[in-house]
Amino acid sequence: MEAIVDLAAIATNTKIVRSRTAGAVMAVVKADAFGHGGVPVARAALDGGATWLGVAWPGEAVALRAAGITAPILAWLFPPATELSSAVAAGVDLAASTGEQLAAIAAASGDRPARVHLKVDTGMARSGAASDDWPALVAAARRYERAGRTEVTAVWSHLADTDDPALVAAQTALLAEAMDVATAAGLRPRWRHLANSAAALHHPGTHLDLVRVGIALYGCEPDPPRPVGLRPAMTLRAPVVAVKRVPAGTGVSYRHQYVTSTDTRLALVPVGYADGIPRVAAGSAQVWTGTERRPVAGVISMDQLVVDIGPDGPEPEEIVLFGPGDDGEPTVAEWAEWADTIPHELLCRVGARVERRHVG
Ligand SMILES: *Cc1c(COP(=O)(O)O)cnc(C)c1O
Repeated sequence: MEAIVDLAAIATNTKIVRSRTAGAVMAVVKADAFGHGGVPVARAALDGGATWLGVAWPGEAVALRAAGITAPILAWLFPPATELSSAVAAGVDLAASTGEQLAAIAAASGDRPARVHLKVDTGMARSGAASDDWPALVAAARRYERAGRTEVTAVWSHLADTDDPALVAAQTALLAEAMDVATAAGLRPRWRHLANSAAALHHPGTHLDLVRVGIALYGCEPDPPRPVGLRPAMTLRAPVVAVKRVPAGTGVSYRHQYVTSTDTRLALVPVGYADGIPRVAAGSAQVWTGTERRPVAGVISMDQLVVDIGPDGPEPEEIVLFGPGDDGEPTVAEWAEWADTIPHELLCRVGARVERRHVG
């Protein structure tokens, strides 16, 4: 039960993004680098040319600092009353969408002003200041700046739908307007950022000074019909516990949702939904036996699943659930289709008891 993480692929994917963007690249390594291991992935992405790191929670940023990473890091999400002074003292940039968040950041500043990325909502209706509240947020930031409490290093926003070019254009225009408001108020942010992976690779008009790239680093093409040569970084594999011969007509796993159509052999694999294998994918999911793809037979349990490996041929010693696809194994993007979700979710749900092994 291991997830092999190809750090060379992370570095190469970062280079591919860099080569397609004019500005800087922020490697988004939140949620333990989408389950790949935060510190090694951050280092690989920095080797590949990223100059920023992005995480959701301030604690994630502090953990990267504690590992010796000195690159700029942005943390963008924290509830009221979060202890922010350790992040500020560690030189972590923090995002503010509201006056309360800005005040909390200013209150955490020490000798140096706290570094702030002011966020404006340009159409996501998630975080970010509404247009009506933006001038007041900007004015407050300017007051804290004059008092030496904060320094606004960036103005930014987040895209709601990169498949909708009109919405992308509208959000880009609203960010430019918000930037004008900030400049008119006397702020001089060095960075403007908006793009995620899909926009970084396919909407050059959104690049501005910095792109925030997650899924592309991990090797999933944001727009599969327009591939740019990304290489999936994680291979998830598990040994076979036992193989059992069964007759045609055998009902397999809970409620016998799979019934063998021929005499066959069933391989027992010790990973299940506790390890992030999506239960809902049973019925569509396939795995790689080393020589061919075979179906997952029946309901995926918490700790185990069964593979129908067919009546003859060599008994596999291990099963590959997903990988880069070189040999014919499924990719995590295929699993995402089988589970009716996105690869982001499946990658970051690979469970804690699956050992991560970093190579390359
Ligand atoms: C997760 C996240 C990203 C990365 O998105 P991808 O689609 O994985 O590139 C970028 N920006 C923010 C604010 C995020 O939360």
